[in-house]
Amino acid sequence: MNKAKFSSLSLPQNLLSNLDSLGYHSMTPIQAESLPAILDGRDVIAQAKTGSGKTAAFALGLINSLNPRWFGVQALVLCPTRELADQVAQEIRRLARAIDNIKVITLCGGTPMAPQRASLEHGAHIVVGTPGRLQDHLFRESLNLSGVKTLVLDEADRMVDMGFIEEIVGIVRACPRQRQTLMFSATYPDNIRKLAEQFMKNPQQVKVESLH
Ligand code: ADP
Ligand code: MG
Repeated sequence: MNKAKFSSLSLPQNLLSNLDSLGYHSMTPIQAESLPAILDGRDVIAQAKTGSGKTAAFALGLINSLNPRWFGVQALVLCPTRELADQVAQEIRRLARAIDNIKVITLCGGTPMAPQRASLEHGAHIVVGTPGRLQDHLFRESLNLSGVKTLVLDEADRMVDMGFIEEIVGIVRACPRQRQTLMFSATYPDNIRKLAEQFMKNPQQVKVESLH
């Protein structure tokens, strides 16, 4: 139905060639609807079903606004579970391989803190993690979010259902006010709407029903 090409977006050639080599020839509907606003730096709330390609939508946005020469955390992605965080980090790495030396790390519970602290000390551009562990790192001052340009709340409805609201609020407050916030959710109930009102600036709302 929707056959919009990635090349219609203002993305650098190295990212476009990499998308092609991954077999991403045309955008999925949620990508076509959200990417122009995301690449424009706007806050976006995107609602779409599982499997619709939401990861690449936000990943291309945050990769495109990275400064590869500065090894500080510039993008933070919050996910409800470790499995999802691992999947998201893997997809970001595939999309970011067009750029040299982009470091993506995951910070999730169930593994020791020390190696995560060491990775942070070595420097990372992008952090993907679960709210509880991210909050732990903030408390222990091993995570500095003052350089975050893009904040992503992935599967926001699930994170809230799992009771992560307080952690999310704390993490968002540790990010600069001047930032881009992207929220992805399969559903958009009142509590998610409130969260969006609290954290986002004039967000563009995008909703896609079909998968392809
Ligand atoms: P969601 O987060 O919406 O559940 P994902 O981001 O996990 O979906 O994407 C689902 C699958 O679609 C992944 O395997 C991903 O590699 C693939 N995919 C995403 N965008 C495209 C695209 N434009 N063309 C082809 N495959 C894509
Ligand atoms: Mg997803």
